[in-house]
Amino acid sequence: MSKLSWEKPTIIKHAGGLANKFGQGVSRRTLSRIDGVSVEALIERFGTPLFVFSEHRLRQRAREAKRAFELRYPKVQFSWSYKTNYLDAVCRIFHQEGAWAEVVSEMEYDMARRLGVPPEHILFNGPYKPEESLRKALTEGARVHIDHYEELYLAERIAKELGRVVPVSIRVNMDTGIHPRWDRFGFNLDTGEALDAARRIHTGGALTLDGLHCHIGTFILEPSAYGQAASKMAALAKQLRQETGMRIDFIDLGGGFASRATLHGQYAPGADSAPALDDYAEAITSALLSAGFAPEDMPTLLLETGRAMVDEAGFMLTRVVGNKRLADGSRSIIIDSGVNLLFTSFWYRHEILPVTDRGGMQEETVVYGPLCMNIDVVRPSVLLPPLEAGDPLVIRPVGAYNVTQWMQFIRLRPAVVLVGEDGSVDVIREAETLDNVKGPERLPERLVNKS
Ligand SMILES: *Cc1c(COP(=O)(O)O)cnc(C)c1O
Repeated sequence: MSKLSWEKPTIIKHAGGLANKFGQGVSRRTLSRIDGVSVEALIERFGTPLFVFSEHRLRQRAREAKRAFELRYPKVQFSWSYKTNYLDAVCRIFHQEGAWAEVVSEMEYDMARRLGVPPEHILFNGPYKPEESLRKALTEGARVHIDHYEELYLAERIAKELGRVVPVSIRVNMDTGIHPRWDRFGFNLDTGEALDAARRIHTGGALTLDGLHCHIGTFILEPSAYGQAASKMAALAKQLRQETGMRIDFIDLGGGFASRATLHGQYAPGADSAPALDDYAEAITSALLSAGFAPEDMPTLLLETGRAMVDEAGFMLTRVVGNKRLADGSRSIIIDSGVNLLFTSFWYRHEILPVTDRGGMQEETVVYGPLCMNIDVVRPSVLLPPLEAGDPLVIRPVGAYNVTQWMQFIRLRPAVVLVGEDGSVDVIREAETLDNVKGPERLPERLVNKS
């Protein structure tokens, strides 16, 4: 086990008097350091807004996940979900920790190849793989998870062109008790469609089926749903073995484990309510171990965990731009990072912490971003002390999906830095410039101003 690094103890100041809805004193949390590096110093050096990632947290979480599963099951392989965060530095760290790549488009496939990931360590998912990208992936030997019949026929045609039998896997979906049900991706298991697709692959002769994949949803707070998924997938694998002699090499349970973020509708904070990785691991591995596979048929367990690996490693450093009383008397502040950079604010109540607390009465506050757009609300309501323009704030956890879904609407995207395990700080994505944005544009000759 790796040595845990020392972390400065946090002293939480409790204000007397008022109690929160849990009957506890109102805590006044602050966050002044990330892995020992001063937030003020980061802001001084790089300005705001600024995304900060912690290498220590990325590696620690990857190892924790690996340990949770490998303790319980003999053959486990993680794959990093590129769409959750495809910054090269982040992907590289996960690859160094042993993860393969899981991609859902040709762009992501090319990103993984550029980082040196061998094709056989790339899982290619997604409902739309244009012919050329599918041909490239199958020719190079990537692991393609087929989503629908048209894609299956196309894969068969490509295999025939190649003149060899090509291994593929299928994505399946099923009822695991999670609603709304994600039945739009892959072949449905409960109706028998997945079994039909597998038989079709078997009888077609152009392809072989070497794996079954599912991804039951995202931010799933019920580990038992994974137990159900694993049992159903195992039953399908066994049925195929008996019926056709086909041997399923791997069962891929996808991603979707919850991070410690808090959903808008959730009562208890995510840090207290998110299941531990051990809980997910227990549900999945006990279902597979009790499925009755012959020892030589035990499939490899693949996992494509995204948000649970990266969310807590990401922080947004931002600053207060102004204070405002709204017409109904409620307090609001404007900050320099909005939903353009924190797309996940639509689903999660991100924690917003001052760097220092100067005291004064805390008040429910609406936190607006800098966009000229009514929907630019980072928190509809959060308890904050009095703040002045220029005061720094830290928003967390924001490591999952924000740096892939961020949008370049009226403002340039800011820099992203990585705090190394030795306290070094590196820029892993430069702040955008106007040339980055305007570079691909072309002005027709007749519109060039010749004045
Ligand atoms: C998005 C995605 C993942 C990762 O999901 P998380 O909820 O971030 O863990 C894994 N597999 C597939 C197929 C996906 O689409």
